Amino acid sequence: MKRSLHSKEVANLSDVIKIDKLPEKAIIPMRQHDGIACAPLVKKGAEVIVGQKLGECEGSDLAYVHSPFCGTVNSIELMPNPSGKRILSVVLTPSECAQTVDFVPEKDAPPSRLIEIIKEAGIVEYYEKPTYLALKPGKRIDTLLMNATFPLITHAYLSSLDKVLEGFKLMLEASGISRGVIVLRADDKESIKAFKNAKVDGKPLTVAPIVGMRHADYYLEDVEDQIIVVAAGKITYTPTMMNLLSANVMGRKLPLGYEPPDVHVVVCGVKSAKAVYDAINEGKPYLESAVTVTGAVNNPKTVIVKFGTPIKDVIEACGGYKGEPGKVIVNGSMGGVAVYTDEAPVVKNTVGIVVQTEAEVLRDEATVCIHCARCVDVCPMNLLPGRIAAMADMGMFDRCREYFALNCIECGECAVVCPAKRHLVQLIRYSKLQIMNQKNETVEATE
Ligand code: SF4
Ligand code: SF4
Repeated sequence: MKRSLHSKEVANLSDVIKIDKLPEKAIIPMRQHDGIACAPLVKKGAEVIVGQKLGECEGSDLAYVHSPFCGTVNSIELMPNPSGKRILSVVLTPSECAQTVDFVPEKDAPPSRLIEIIKEAGIVEYYEKPTYLALKPGKRIDTLLMNATFPLITHAYLSSLDKVLEGFKLMLEASGISRGVIVLRADDKESIKAFKNAKVDGKPLTVAPIVGMRHADYYLEDVEDQIIVVAAGKITYTPTMMNLLSANVMGRKLPLGYEPPDVHVVVCGVKSAKAVYDAINEGKPYLESAVTVTGAVNNPKTVIVKFGTPIKDVIEACGGYKGEPGKVIVNGSMGGVAVYTDEAPVVKNTVGIVVQTEAEVLRDEATVCIHCARCVDVCPMNLLPGRIAAMADMGMFDRCREYFALNCIECGECAVVCPAKRHLVQLIRYSKLQIMNQKNETVEATE
């Protein structure tokens, strides 16, 4: 690895708020995970209460959808979504009533029931996999990693760290995985301090650095604790960087086309650990989570948002747009998706909203490549980003594959340094999609 990624100081945005005002309209998509869409269980005109199941699906790859609001169903139709597509959604007019379904805690449930509760609660990982499936991938797993390298999201849960840790323990119990490793950024001093002061089973947690060849296994051999915390570099491991997380923290490298479970590792997030606690100890389905709002807004903050709340209401809770918004990007300015309307709702995998001004968007207009090779210098995967992007731009996806486009982890480092503002990540991601589509078509044709 040539250098650390995203090494800027963590911004001081640890101010966490809840939105008090009800949105005029809540848009609750029937698919908020990577899998089968749910069929709506309600009809237009129905009154719903908090926690009521709105969508159910059959099959092995599902995540139920519940209502975070009381209200009336206005319509069930295709609505804007942060994925960039229009998704079938239940559109509600929320009301002030605080009525909820009966939340039934099951603290003493056996492991098989714990997995069922996690499934029923509709909990989804930050990388869109339903948590009950992530925990039971059908392979031999020895380590559950909690990716706590999104500092602002982790900070939002530090006030309920005991619940996050309890939820993580419950995940270990439900999955039968013997060891847990919580991964923090080495420059996230606030989280490191909080974890150092936290206890599991009455014992302080071991917080260790990942240095050189000393991976998490090195420390796990020395301590009897089921859970340890490691501070691993200055990288925020986004969903496309799961293999890098496994390699850097566990020392288990993955060839192309493999995933962490292939090296006996499963990854979860901080949000899902807290959601597992809520589901098992309080009987609550997954209804809300923390989202960071940064960029051109008046009061950048971390906000606890109910799923289905339109992005414009979240922006309003942060003091509104600062100037004329140019672009609203969900889940990262480099690897995220620019939404075409701020009516699109926050969903289960939303971690961040970035607003760019019109001036920033114009400033970022791409010009021609000047062949400076800065993108090559910074690429942690030793790729030729400018070359791959140019070939993607010309539709030469076979050439992109030959230049290992599929190895790109979409970290965005190349785009950050590119003086020509080339849209490197978007182009490379597009080429990856095309390569995968070609691959799937070939498999289908030979079957
Ligand atoms: S090509 Fe991919 S892996 Fe390399 S720097 Fe760019 S985004 Fe990161
Ligand atoms: S950094 Fe930008 S301008 Fe320089 S070689 Fe890469 S794509 Fe071209």
